[in-house]
Amino acid sequence: MSRVEDFLSAKEEQEIVNAIKQAEKNTSGEIRVHIEATSKLPHYLRVQEVFQMLKMDNTKEHNAVLFYVAVEDRKFVVYGDEGINKVVPDNFWDTTKDAMQEEFQQGDFKQGIINGVLKAGEELKVHFPWQTDDEDELSNEISKA
Ligand code: CA
Ligand code: CA
Repeated sequence: MSRVEDFLSAKEEQEIVNAIKQAEKNTSGEIRVHIEATSKLPHYLRVQEVFQMLKMDNTKEHNAVLFYVAVEDRKFVVYGDEGINKVVPDNFWDTTKDAMQEEFQQGDFKQGIINGVLKAGEELKVHFPWQTDDEDELSNEISKA
């Protein structure tokens, strides 16, 4: 088994999917999690490549957020689409990243990702509240490479 398969158990993955569903009840924004072993590209570029690959730039309000984790590189990046970046300050993701960092440092990756996802949902709520006609535009399943 690869490091990516070992990173989270099936149960942990399901808990993360549930957190994504819960976060998306707060906001029209779409949240996805992508996990891979390592990247040859710098992570800030790789996250943009994965974002395109998952067609996350296709949301109506351009308000999707990708949580990218490179397991062997011990790196994570939170990347939001341009609709978000237009209306929020540069340090918008800091609280989300902080919510993850602490758990990651203690090796609890599941809880780190869940904290980040839920925090992102709360933060996005202010700018992109959930609408009654909201659609689940992007899959809530974890993507892996
Ligand atoms: Ca939605
Ligand atoms: Ca979704």
